[in-house]
Amino acid sequence: MDQNLVVKKRRIVLVPVPAQGHVTPIMQLGKALHSKGFSITVVQTQYNRVSSSKYFSDFNFLTIPGSLTESDLKNLGPLQFMLKLNQVCEASFKQCLGQLLKEQGDDDEIACVIYDEYMSLSKAAAKEFQLPSVVFSTTSATAFLCRSVIAKVNADKFLTDMKDLELQDKLFPGLHPLRYKDLPTSAFGPIESIPRVYSETVNIGTASAVIINTSTCLESSTLARLQRELQVPVYPIGPLHIAASAPSSLLEEDRSCIEWLNMQKPRSVIYVSLGSLALMEIKDALEMAWGLSNSNQPFLWVIRPGSIPSSEWTESLPEEFSKLVSERGYIVKWAPQMEVLRHPAVGGFWSHCGWNSTLESIGEGVPMICRPFTGDQKVNARYLQSVWRVGFQLEGELEKEDVERAVKRLLVDEEGAHMRKRAIELKKKLESSVRPGGSSCSSLDDFISSLKMKSS
Ligand code: UDP
Repeated sequence: MDQNLVVKKRRIVLVPVPAQGHVTPIMQLGKALHSKGFSITVVQTQYNRVSSSKYFSDFNFLTIPGSLTESDLKNLGPLQFMLKLNQVCEASFKQCLGQLLKEQGDDDEIACVIYDEYMSLSKAAAKEFQLPSVVFSTTSATAFLCRSVIAKVNADKFLTDMKDLELQDKLFPGLHPLRYKDLPTSAFGPIESIPRVYSETVNIGTASAVIINTSTCLESSTLARLQRELQVPVYPIGPLHIAASAPSSLLEEDRSCIEWLNMQKPRSVIYVSLGSLALMEIKDALEMAWGLSNSNQPFLWVIRPGSIPSSEWTESLPEEFSKLVSERGYIVKWAPQMEVLRHPAVGGFWSHCGWNSTLESIGEGVPMICRPFTGDQKVNARYLQSVWRVGFQLEGELEKEDVERAVKRLLVDEEGAHMRKRAIELKKKLESSVRPGGSSCSSLDDFISSLKMKSS
């Protein structure tokens, strides 16, 4: 570490979104910055809090008050939840930051507030206290760019176009190779709220920089374009899970699946997981179940409790399927995903294509079957298939025959072997980017130098 980089101001305040896909990378960022000599304070709301495990024993965790009503918690989709959470916690966050500033010592001054792009409550507080603030994007640069483009187009026209079925397979102007249907609109809330939410997230206010969990080897042209548009430095410092591993699972991991993987042949298993939020219709779950069984490949399937609506866990799957599972499958409620992807028995990943899962899969050289549900997952799926060519999308109605064919295509056919080869090439590039001298590693150092310049 270059000791000169951290001279005076040395505490960084992190403000995560309380959801697994956001918590994981911001805690990794905290770990990376901590290893460069900064103290870390994590300011959280009362929802989905990260606990101070042995990995974060040096971090300071603060919880701010502010809660939503029972009815809001039950009825709001994630996007509406975030808008409301920002409203109800804005004052308490300001108070918390004010208190931190009062208490700080000479050798522990706050260098900056790094907030998740969906925690817009940070903007007003950072501005009031004239603290440098930095936006952290947990999605791809391309998804960020999409939000910026959507925020600028005419909202009425955008909403009309997105409802026009004939347009859906056409390319969206200026965002090649994304089609209308690949844009990060969300099934988690009404599409009408999208332009407003996106203008909120891409309006970086007084932020002095944007940090993105990506690498130039994945998104160089998008990053160059974002850099031109945003007019503040953009730092691609990912993939953070390679740069700074920091386990922060909000759910308990079932490690028994690793023992099961140990008994499978190399590259024979299809790992199936839809992340921490996606829900699956019972009809699709059944087609998946039969398709996976009929593929004759061993499968490890994460079924989160409650992810099949109206079902506690797997009781809606047929009795015969349970018998098949004991022969060639394994089902868990939550897996140690990184370890699973790294396991030599895993040959492919059936994924909803959340950005963390995407980075983790290509970071381990594992090719993917892409079945996105919502938001930026559709952008990632399109890139996995058309740009990086390390996976393919399953679009339209899900039938068991398609599931069976897809699994064989990825694990048995030559086409799958080519995708794996490309995934392994990308894995090497990603690993080099976070090593000293690599683009992401240098980008992180540049960011730290910029903090030093501000404090001197
Ligand atoms: N994950 C995990 N175990 C599981 C499923 C997911 O640890 O059984 C982790 C995964 O490694 C990733 C995160 O949960 O880091 C999911 O984030 P992602 O961006 O892929 O999707 P989201 O949950 O935000 O939709």
